[in-house]
This record gives sequence, C-alpha cells and structure tokens, in this order.
Amino acid sequence: MRYVSTRGAAPVLSFDDVVLTGLARDGGLYVPETMPRWSEAEWASLAGLSYAEIAVRVLKPFVGDTISQADLAAMVHDTYRNFRHPAVAPLKQLGSNDWLLELFHGPTIAFKDYALQLLGRLFDHVLTRRGQRMAVLGATSGDTGSAAIEACKDRSAVDIFILFPHGRVSDVQRRQMTTVASANVHAIAVEGTFDDCQDLVKACFGDLAFRDEVGLGAVNSINWARIVAQTVYYVVAAVAVGAPSRSVSFAVPTGNFGNVYAATVARAMGLPIDRLVIGSNRNDILTRLFTTGVMEIGAVEPSLSPSMDIQVSSNLERYLFELMGRDGTRIAEAMHGFRTTGRFALPADLLATAQRLFSAHRVDDQGTLATMARVHDQTGELLDPHTAVGVAASLAHRGDPRVPMISLACAHPAKFVDAAVQAIGTPAPLPRHLSGLMAAEERMTVLPNSVAAVQSLMRGALAR
Ligand SMILES: *Cc1c(COP(=O)(O)O)cnc(C)c1O
Repeated sequence: MRYVSTRGAAPVLSFDDVVLTGLARDGGLYVPETMPRWSEAEWASLAGLSYAEIAVRVLKPFVGDTISQADLAAMVHDTYRNFRHPAVAPLKQLGSNDWLLELFHGPTIAFKDYALQLLGRLFDHVLTRRGQRMAVLGATSGDTGSAAIEACKDRSAVDIFILFPHGRVSDVQRRQMTTVASANVHAIAVEGTFDDCQDLVKACFGDLAFRDEVGLGAVNSINWARIVAQTVYYVVAAVAVGAPSRSVSFAVPTGNFGNVYAATVARAMGLPIDRLVIGSNRNDILTRLFTTGVMEIGAVEPSLSPSMDIQVSSNLERYLFELMGRDGTRIAEAMHGFRTTGRFALPADLLATAQRLFSAHRVDDQGTLATMARVHDQTGELLDPHTAVGVAASLAHRGDPRVPMISLACAHPAKFVDAAVQAIGTPAPLPRHLSGLMAAEERMTVLPNSVAAVQSLMRGALAR
C-alpha cells in the first residue's frame, strides 16, 4: 500500500513513512493510493472476532508489509488490553433500533485513545527500528492533547508538545494534560483559539527547515494512522448489529471531520453504511457545507462541546479529494482559495453526491442540554455534551427505522462537569483510575499565538 498527498505534489510514501510524516510537504494530507475493497465473505468472516482481532484485519492492508503481521498483532493486542471494558467499544441500546457506541473506555476517557494508544506504539516501533527520535507537535481542542500525552509519555523515542487554547478547555481536560509528570511531555497554553493552535502546528510543519531540524511528527488526525485506527470501531459496531447482511447508519458529532471521515474509509472498503449523520454545535461550518454546499469561515465561538469549537476542518480535505475525483491540483486550488477568501463552494453535482451519504444538523447549547436531560430521563444514560449533539442529530435525521442507527459516544460525561450540572443538576463521577486528577500538581507554559515562540520553546526543551 502506497500513500499519496491530497495536493498531488509530495513524495509517494509507504505506511511507516506516513506514520512519521504527518502533514505532506505540499501542505496536503496523505491518503491511500487505492482503497482496499473486501468481498462479502471477508466481511462475513469478522463475525464473533474480538475488537483486537478485527483491528488487525482492518489495519493489515493499510500497513502493507512495512510492519510484520506478528509485530502489528502484538502492538494491537497490547494496546486494547489496557482498555477498561472487555468489549473495548461496547454497544448500548438507547431505543428500539438506536444504539450508543461507547468509546470512552481508554485511559483518558475519550475516543481519541482508540487511535492514539496504538499510534504511540507505532511511533516507538518504527523510530526504534530506524534509530531515530521524533518531536511530536499537536494542537488540541481538549481531548486529543491528553490522549496523545498519555500515549507518548515515557516512550523513549518521542518528545511531545501539545498546544491548547488557554482558558478554553474544561478543567478535567486541562488537568489531564498538565498533571503528567514525565520529562518528555510539554503542555502549552496558547493565547488564542483552537484554530490558532492548529494553524501554529501547520506553520511549524510548513517550515521545512524547522521540521527537519527537530524531527517533527504529528498526532492530530492529519496522521493517517489515526484515521485507520478509528475505522476499526465502525467495523466492529456494524458487525455487532448484523453487517454485512444489514446496512447501518452512524451519527457522529464532529468539528474536524476526522472521526466521521474514518467511517467513509470503512464504506469505501465495502462496509454497508447507509447514512452518516453529522452533528455540529454552534460552530456549524460543516452543517452549512452539507446543507447549502457553501463553507464560510466564521469566528470560533465557545460552546458546551469544546472539542468541536472549530471552523477549519482539516480532514474534510481527504473527503473532498475523493469527491473531486482524486485531482490533487484541483484540491490544492480549492484549499488555497478557501484559506485566502474564507469561502469555498461545492458544485451542485458534488453537493448532491455528498448528500446521498451525509446529513448534517446543528445543535446549539440549549438543544445539547435538552438532549442530555431527555436521554438521561428516558434511559438513565448521561451523555457527554458532544455525544448529545450527535444523538440529537440522529433523531432529527433518523431515516429508515429498520436500519440500525449507531451514535458514537465520544467521551465520558465526567469530562464535562459544567454541562452535566446544567443538564441534570449533578456531575458524573470520574472513573476510579482518574480520581487523583483534581488534586495533582499542574505544569504548563503559557505562550502568545506566535510561531516563533513555539519554535523557540521546542528548541530549548529539545536541547536539554
Ligand atoms: C475530538 C472530539 C470530537 C470531534 O472529533 P473530530 O473527528 O475531530 O471532529 C468530538 N467529541 C469529542 C468528545 C472529542 O474528543
């Protein structure tokens, strides 16, 4: 399996190089040159397999022969053995044919663990084999940072630098990043928004001299390995409710389009996915794109679902690449136009194609709280506010009731104390393994929104 950039002007790479490379050198994102396509029999053979066994099957064609089958299987089993539910990603029934896929049984209790715990192991494996080190740089709107730190702390070949918007992540989210004592972990609060943090990361990757000087690596979902590790739970859930002999739909709360993009990969491989319902919060650029065909950047506004307070969705580029016939030149032009004018319009025929798969729905804070309260009242489940956005969207765009609708439960409700208190009057208790979090000592650096400041901090830390 070889990987090409969505902008068509970067070197073609193998899986292990893509894992270390992150953003392509032409500013694009890496995608497989061709998607593997499974037969009905291959899909059917997944019935009854464990999460880790399915993960090895799904990952194998993407990894190719860059990592041996035995090493891959060992890393995958080691990753998911540490999750706190025997099913890894259990399904709960919410309604007559409506399901919740719980993705908060990893160490930092959000779905990011499912990919990042594996990515940390892949980094160490590939780097150690090559005798290299890497400086991982990531931006977080809340959950990626802690999951990446947890995945990279104490890994011998990696230093990790995480940028988050100062004052715009929840206390639990911040503490999960700032209380990790490992010397290779650097939590950096940027005076700006998540989009600013993401732009700082992109600027560091775009500075090719700096990139080579420090050996920059990516943990954001620009990293292809994260996408394909997330594809696994769509497959696991679909098989659990009857795929491939039944089709399924998913509802996914999204800001950066990474999680839901992973579902399109499963679909390209032949998994019978009927519809993908996207939930947006008040930062609804994606809902506007999929309903009107026009994407216009607005100001990022804080919401109860901070991990989706995003206006520029990096992974959309991967989907647009497929939609626009895998034409890198066209994507490069479209993305350049979007960044300079703040506006992008899909031609009507492509919007119609997108709408055959996607529906999108905007849920404001009030709707989020109302959904949390109603679902809690009806089922006893407390949803985190991001999950509530997805569930509200799933109900608004329910479609054929015979098709199972699986909503992704993206984080444990204990991560979002304020929202829980506003919705039902009490917070959810933190799982036992995090009980010391609120008393632990914090360590972080506050930086202005400046590329030079980030680069100088990184140089200093790496020289030590
Ligand atoms: C990261 C995150 C999201 C958004 O996912 P994307 O795929 O990056 O858009 C939603 N909910 C939670 C809890 C998250 O941590």
